[in-house]
Amino acid sequence: MGAGRDARQASGGTQGHNPEEDGVKDLVREALKDLAPYEPGKPIEEVKRELGLSEVFKMASNENPLGPSPMAAEAVRRAAAELHLYPDGSGWLLKKRLAAHLGVESREIILGNGSDEIIRMIVETFLNPGEEVVVADQAFIIYRMAAKVMGGVCRIVPLSGHTHDLEAMRREVNERTRLVFIANPNNPTGTMVTGQQVDRLMSGLPEDVIVVCDEAYYEYIERDDFPESIGYVRAGRPVIVLRTFSKIYGLAGLRIGYGIARDDLVRGMNRVRQPFNTNRMAQAGALAALDDTEHLEESRRVNTEGKVFLYGALERLGLETVPSEANFILVDVGRDGNAVSEKLLRRGVIVRAMGGYGFPRSVRVTVGERADNERFIAALEEVLGGE
Ligand code: PMP
Repeated sequence: MGAGRDARQASGGTQGHNPEEDGVKDLVREALKDLAPYEPGKPIEEVKRELGLSEVFKMASNENPLGPSPMAAEAVRRAAAELHLYPDGSGWLLKKRLAAHLGVESREIILGNGSDEIIRMIVETFLNPGEEVVVADQAFIIYRMAAKVMGGVCRIVPLSGHTHDLEAMRREVNERTRLVFIANPNNPTGTMVTGQQVDRLMSGLPEDVIVVCDEAYYEYIERDDFPESIGYVRAGRPVIVLRTFSKIYGLAGLRIGYGIARDDLVRGMNRVRQPFNTNRMAQAGALAALDDTEHLEESRRVNTEGKVFLYGALERLGLETVPSEANFILVDVGRDGNAVSEKLLRRGVIVRAMGGYGFPRSVRVTVGERADNERFIAALEEVLGGE
């Protein structure tokens, strides 16, 4: 189940691996046969080049519209003078700083080339072929892609009201289950599960099932019933919390994220971690970004303000939306989302069509600055009015 969706989501059917057609023997491992490469949002440069546009608004990859913290950018520039040196493979300084920031020990932190890499390290460390992971349908697609790479089996649980249904996910756990993935808030719906819901899940799970709380959008959360997931780590429970510098910190291009977990789990993951997986500039940029609380607060403010504007405007257009705790909104455009996103693209606005995630009539738009949001709404109004 779910394989077709993976393939559609990942490749749009254009990059499939088909050696028979080329007349050569398929050398790819059996576990990868129905897996296609992940296809990210289109880069601005490509859209400008292909469509001959001079101005393009990218609202497709949940990036920070304010850009990086100037302090982080300066730290990266300084680090550039030392590019001949390997990075500190363990990321000692950044882990120390993060540990102080989070109230955990350095040995309870692992750094990754984006949190994507940590997801890969998790399955490589804890999942044997044939063992199971529990994931929500219409949740971040990388979990099941990673599990498949390891020959794992995915138990896919439908969302309930666009939200992870933790009760139903718990019911899918059996003696072969190694991992439960929770995207909180979820991408692409923007919904969150509460501390109480996670507590209930945790009390019903065997001690050898690892729960991954992927909190890529954590810093955007304004609700006070969000789980204190690091509390489980401190209490010695098998929970891995994932965070990233790609979102509110505006450092997606540097590729750096981190995991927080019991030290035995971190030691396990260090066995598969590449020796220099996070680079010198990424470590320096992340370290400086942690000091720039002004940039963080301004980013959160712009996001909250942008969401208020977008929800108001989308409601005026008579469109249904999902209330989001993150920096993006899932919008039901009432017709083929792919066609709408193509038309928006021609007007210089990049959003993500969500057909691959099982929302064929929806697009996901990243909250921008005022000008981005206005441009998106104007273009959307034109597209919807023109049919
Ligand atoms: N988790 C979720 C839920 C995400 O939306 C993303 C970004 N698309 C990631 C993880 C990965 O982020 P990164 O690898 O840039 O840290």
